[in-house]
Amino acid sequence: MLLPFDPTESHTAEYDLCIVGTGPAGITLALELANKGLQILILEAGGLDYTAESQDFYECESVGHEGWPKLTRLRFFGGTSNHWSGRCRPFDASDFNRPSVNSLPGWPIDYSELDKYLAPAMKIIDIDDSGGFKPISTTTFDGHFYPDKSAQSPPTRFKEKYIDEIKNNPNIHCFYNATAVDLGLDSHHISVQSILVRHYNGGQTQFKAKTFILALGGIENPRLLLNCKSQIKEGLGNSHDMVGRCFMEHLNVSLGSFIYKNPDQSSQMQFYTDAQFSNAYDIGQSNVTLSIVKTVKSYGRTRAIKNFFKNLACEMELSEKIDYLSDFKCPGMGNISTLMEQSPNLHSRVMLSAQRDAMGLQRAKFDWQLNDYDRNTIKTIGQQFAKDFQKAGLGNVKLENFVIQASDENTIKFSRHAHHMGTTRMSILPAHGVVDENCKVHGLDNLYIAGSSVFSTGGACNPTMPIIQLCLRMVDHLVKKSTFPVKT
Ligand SMILES: Cc1cc2nc3c(=O)[nH]c(=O)nc-3n(C[C@H](O)[C@H](O)[C@H](O)COP(=O)(O)OP(=O)(O)OC[C@H]3O[C@@H](n4cnc5c(N)ncnc54)[C@H](O)[C@@H]3O)c2cc1C
Repeated sequence: MLLPFDPTESHTAEYDLCIVGTGPAGITLALELANKGLQILILEAGGLDYTAESQDFYECESVGHEGWPKLTRLRFFGGTSNHWSGRCRPFDASDFNRPSVNSLPGWPIDYSELDKYLAPAMKIIDIDDSGGFKPISTTTFDGHFYPDKSAQSPPTRFKEKYIDEIKNNPNIHCFYNATAVDLGLDSHHISVQSILVRHYNGGQTQFKAKTFILALGGIENPRLLLNCKSQIKEGLGNSHDMVGRCFMEHLNVSLGSFIYKNPDQSSQMQFYTDAQFSNAYDIGQSNVTLSIVKTVKSYGRTRAIKNFFKNLACEMELSEKIDYLSDFKCPGMGNISTLMEQSPNLHSRVMLSAQRDAMGLQRAKFDWQLNDYDRNTIKTIGQQFAKDFQKAGLGNVKLENFVIQASDENTIKFSRHAHHMGTTRMSILPAHGVVDENCKVHGLDNLYIAGSSVFSTGGACNPTMPIIQLCLRMVDHLVKKSTFPVKT
């Protein structure tokens, strides 16, 4: 059943599970658990399509590096999958064996815990299991990088693919235009008993469930926990002031440009850091992408004449000299970009702003920070890649000054990949994170978190497929501990 939320109706039934959010995490959990026979309530804040009214709730006060937090998420049915790009790469086993970074422990679980859910996760996002993960280019060279492997989801839009299944599943009640605004605890503050849901018209009502899962994305998961302060003033799961800390992105760093000696081979090459190298230098992992220009391109009415001069310049090897007149690349040249791991850092965080949204909740205050560890990751990877590439005789690399020289945070040019991670990180102890090994909030019996906010470290892989792997793992956990009859 899929219905618009009507706050004038009362809801006395107690569901087995309440799942908040209908992105890849929420929809995966709901369908898997409903198919096991559990009675599921789904709450989605947005409507069935994009509206500016709903999207405004994603406006943040931004005080650190610009991460475009309003534009990099979508607040309606299907969540951010309505505009994700579909690149998928699994975590490496080595991501789960890392020593502490910035005095924070890494993942408390082994990689095998995720790996066993890889094939079913691939199916959910329409990646052909037999195709697997293939390298974009097979060029290899001696050194510290190997060809990176990835796979492409079409990309699966969770709304288009799964809305009818949700509508027709007798075990699911899904309400949209239903924003979760507070969670009600028992008198001992150890379990969640109800969820307060508000409509855009100001009306609100409570729903009850035995277990609750927040699947709101890496910024809203901590924001809601921090806003739930009607009974505990520091918010839920926040006894150690960890909610919202350790916000991590994947760093999109323009390391520089290159000339490749074999430009006819491919239009892109992607490499990945060798884990031994990263461990030895105590740096993060990275994908390094070389986008190779195949032909000179110009636009506009004078395109033909511009092409003529650019091709002439390339042939005469004058391109660098006239670079200052017209910035362009000859065939075989290109730029080097990355998808680089950021370390968990207590000072990079999502907090509450004094500004409030239209429902009265405090907006997120978004403070994305890099630290010395991250700066060292950028420099070490940039410099080593240039050395290895040149030593192998593949071509030349011209690094940006900030990769070579001592630089402060402000001179490093980087951007985001729209991957919001780490803000309710997984840890054994509540002093180091917000959820335990099963994604259950420390100190609360029946509140779980789904999504990349639980990542202890982010590796250099796209997050959505691992989010789904973790959701499938959570389904098995919930079924195992369930006190009600479930279909196996
Ligand atoms: C442009 C772009 C390209 C991307 N490309 C890739 C890629 O190639 N590969 C990859 O792996 N990842 C990619 N991503 C990231 C990917 O979209 C996310 O990892 C994924 O959508 C996260 O899923 P989620 O379910 O955790 O959160 P979301 O998809 O963000 O879903 C959260 C849901 O919660 C709802 N919600 C929020 N607040 C409330 C509330 N208070 N009450 C009720 N409901 C609420 C929202 O409306 C939404 O439906 C990309 C992201 C962007 C922006």
